[in-house]
Formats: sequence, C-alpha cells, structure tokens
Amino acid sequence: MAVERTLSIIKPDATRRNLTGQINARFEESGLRIVAQKRIQLTKDQAEGFYAVHRERAFFGELCDMMCSGPVIVQVLEGDNAITRNREIMGATNPANADEGTIRRDFAESIEANSVHGSDAPETAAEEISYYFSQLELVG
Ligand code: ATP
Ligand code: MG
Repeated sequence: MAVERTLSIIKPDATRRNLTGQINARFEESGLRIVAQKRIQLTKDQAEGFYAVHRERAFFGELCDMMCSGPVIVQVLEGDNAITRNREIMGATNPANADEGTIRRDFAESIEANSVHGSDAPETAAEEISYYFSQLELVG
C-alpha cells in the first residue's frame, strides 16, 4: 500500500460545536497522521475557488456561505491509502446514509453541514493541499 497525503477540512459546523479534538482523534485512531494543520477563516472568494468544481450545482451558493460562516481547520493527513481511508472514516456525504462509527454519522448536522471534507483522488489531493499549504509548511 502506498503512503499518501490527503487534504482534510473540519468545517464550520464542527468547529462551532468544539469538535476539532474529537474528529482529530478519529483520524489518529485510524492510523492517519496529521502532518500539517491550521485554523483559518475563509473568504467567499476562497471558498468559491476551492469548490469551483461544484459551481453549476444548485447548492453552490449555500455551500460557500456555509464554508465561510466560521473558522475551519485545514489539515494534511498522511498514511497508507490515506485518500480512500479518510473517505471511509468520514462516511457518506449525507449523514443519513453514512455507516455507523463514521464522523459524518456521529457528528454531521445535515447533507450540507457535514462536518468534514476529504479529497477524492490523488490529483485533487495534490491540488487541494497546495491550495492551502505552501511547501515550507509541509514537513517531510
Ligand atoms: P467533500 O467534497 O466536502 O468531502 P463529498 O465529496 O462527500 O464532500 P461532494 O459531492 O464533493 O461531496 O459535495 C461537496 C459538499 O457539498 C458536501 O460535502 C456538502 O457539504 C455539500 N453538498 C453536497 N451535496 C449537497 C446537496 N444535495 N445539498 C446541499 N449540500 C450538498
Ligand atoms: Mg467532494
């Protein structure tokens, strides 16, 4: 199995409810290592740029408003198969469909305020990591 890195975001609904530590514990207990992390407030432009792939979707405006409604934790997770592994730990987009024991099943408020983001492929992981982190912030 290849060691990979993936971009994770703890979304405003989760930082608002003080869940950062509990969510980070899920990653660490699952064998993923948090190798970079910072707490930031996204502007509307930054949220729209990050989610540009969804700009034609009906929920795009609300999604971007939600992402800048409070601070987010952007982080890089590293481990064997980290991209797929993280998406398993997160659970399905809609918490109603997420498996038991996943972050979204246990913490998400709705399909939109679903507590976490995770990259979905190696190419998007590389792009998303460089969207938030400079080379200097990435150890190793
Ligand atoms: P993410 O990209 O945040 O990890 P995902 O890959 O599971 O989530 P996407 O289809 O990429 O899901 O959607 C991006 C985000 O847009 C979702 O996490 C959710 O916050 C929001 N979203 C997706 N579908 C809907 C919907 N039908 N209604 C409202 N918001 C939605
Ligand atoms: Mg996605």
